[in-house]
Amino acid sequence: MNDFTDKNVLVLGGSRGIGAAIVRRLAAGGGQVAFTYAGSQQAAEDLAHETGATPIRTDSADRSELLATVAGRGALDVLVVAAGALVMGDPLGIAADAVDHMIDVNVRAPYHAAIEAARRMNADGRIIVIGSVNGDRMPFAGGAAYALTKSAVQGMVRGLARDLGARGITVNAIQPGPTDSDMNPADGPMAETMHGFMAIKRHARPSEIAELTAYIAGPHAAMITGSMQTIDGGFGA
Ligand code: NDP
Repeated sequence: MNDFTDKNVLVLGGSRGIGAAIVRRLAAGGGQVAFTYAGSQQAAEDLAHETGATPIRTDSADRSELLATVAGRGALDVLVVAAGALVMGDPLGIAADAVDHMIDVNVRAPYHAAIEAARRMNADGRIIVIGSVNGDRMPFAGGAAYALTKSAVQGMVRGLARDLGARGITVNAIQPGPTDSDMNPADGPMAETMHGFMAIKRHARPSEIAELTAYIAGPHAAMITGSMQTIDGGFGA
């Protein structure tokens, strides 16, 4: 297990799902972990009680609120952006406001949070965004806008890796495939369709995504930057 003792960690979107698993993993590794949530106050308080991490209510879609939270944590060692929104369906029918909100949470927020964190991040810091294998592959209808947001993360990661490399700061995306969470339950209506695209025909557990995230956040991953780390049971193969 990587040692995150005394590391200053912020996880955006840590109250549920993949983000909560990352909070658990990095806190178990000794990190001083804070995490944000938007609507799930009870889940956030329960997770704080369980892990000792600090919950902060922050809507990622509100840029000034987001920047204040990131700046308020001081010199970070690790920033993980796990907050995400999903809007799927016939693009001719989806509400434009819902798509724009998803772009705010999935694209604008990771970018602005990363920049704000970089202003005062410690040397050899880690910026990690939870993207998706759908940034590479969208094999069914209804996912154009979501795929757009996840492909945008890829461009940001590649570019920022070059901007921040001189300080030893790495910037990477973790790209899960189907992962059991409220967003995509393992017993949901789309599960069988998704498993049909996979070599390992099951949803990942959030803890599996968290373990890869911990590796990328740790000292052994110093030469991994500008990369997409796909963990998808072969969905994109
Ligand atoms: P969940 O819906 O289970 O959890 C989403 C988390 O993001 C919650 O903690 C939620 O907090 C937080 N969040 C959402 N909107 C905001 C906001 N505006 N401000 C702050 N926090 C917010 O999703 P997952 O854990 O499954 O997804 C996490 C990331 O992983 C997303 O980027 C998603 O696209 C990506 N991903 C997920 C996959 C899957 O199959 N599950 C596959 C590939 C990628 P709260 O409840 O407090 O609002």
